[in-house]
Amino acid sequence: MHVTGACHCGQIRYEAEIDLAAVAICHCTDCQKITGSSFRVNVPAKKENFKMLAGEPKTYVKTAESGAKRLQAFCGHCGTSIYATTEVDQKVFGLRVGALDQRQQLVPQKQIWCDSAMPWLGKITTLPSVAKQPT
Ligand SMILES: [Zn+2]
Ligand SMILES: [Zn+2]
Repeated sequence: MHVTGACHCGQIRYEAEIDLAAVAICHCTDCQKITGSSFRVNVPAKKENFKMLAGEPKTYVKTAESGAKRLQAFCGHCGTSIYATTEVDQKVFGLRVGALDQRQQLVPQKQIWCDSAMPWLGKITTLPSVAKQPT
C-alpha cells in the first residue's frame, strides 16, 4: 500500500510502499519513553520503497539493553517521530504509523515486547468516552 507521511509542523514529508500485514504494536520501554506514550505502532518499509520528499530529520542513536544501536529520526522543529533504522547500512526503515496520513487504515497485526505492556491496556474500552476535547 502506498502511504504518505509528514511531521506535525510540515517541514518533513515522505512516502513509502508498505505491507499492511506488517503493521505492529511495540510495547518496549524505549518506545514508551521516546514517544511519551504507552506504546508505538510501526510498519517497516524497505529502503527502495521509502522516499523523503521534504526536509531532513534530526537523528538520535539509542543503545538497547542488548547493546544494539538504533537510529531514531525525528523532526528537529516539532519533535514528531518519523522512523527508526540501523545506524549504518540502512536497508529497512521502521515508519511511525502515527505520522502517516493513512494511519486509520493501518491496523496492527501483532504486538511485540508484551512483557512491558501497560497492564491497563485491555481495559480502555470500558472507560467513559468523550468524542472530542471535553468542555
Ligand atoms: Zn516538524
Ligand atoms: Zn519498541
